[in-house]
Amino acid sequence: MTAHTEYLWMNTKDRYAIVNITDEVESVIQKSGVKEGLCLVNAMHITASVFINDHEPGLHRDFLNWVEKLAPYGRDRYQHNLTGEDNGDAHLKRTIMGREVVVAITDGKLDFGPWEQIFYGEFDGQRKKRVLVKIIGE
Ligand code: ZN
Repeated sequence: MTAHTEYLWMNTKDRYAIVNITDEVESVIQKSGVKEGLCLVNAMHITASVFINDHEPGLHRDFLNWVEKLAPYGRDRYQHNLTGEDNGDAHLKRTIMGREVVVAITDGKLDFGPWEQIFYGEFDGQRKKRVLVKIIGE
C-alpha cells in the first residue's frame, strides 16, 4: 500500500471565495502513482471548507448568499468575537459547508458522479492557509 501526503497553499484576495481545486488534487494523485484507493482532502483551518459540488458560478454565489443569511458577518453579533476576533461568522459558515471530502480513486482518477468537482471555501481569507491531500491505496 502507498500513502502520499501533500499540502496545497491557499491565499484568496477576498475575505470570501470558492476555489476549484480539482486539478491540483488530480495532480497529487498522479504524483502518488495510486491507481486504486481513497483520497482525503480537508481544510486545515477552522474558517475554511472543502466540499464537492457543481462548477457553476451562479451556484457559488447562491452558496455565499445562503451562508451569509445564516451567519451574517458582524463584529458585535457573535460571542466568539468577544475574544477580539471578528470571524465568528466564518467558523459557522465553515461548519455548514463542511471540513473535508473523501473521493474514491479508480484507474488513477477521481471517481466522481456527474458534474462533481472539489472546492475550497474561504470565509476569512486574505491570508495563507493549507489544505491537506492524503492518498492511500495501491
Ligand atoms: Zn475565530
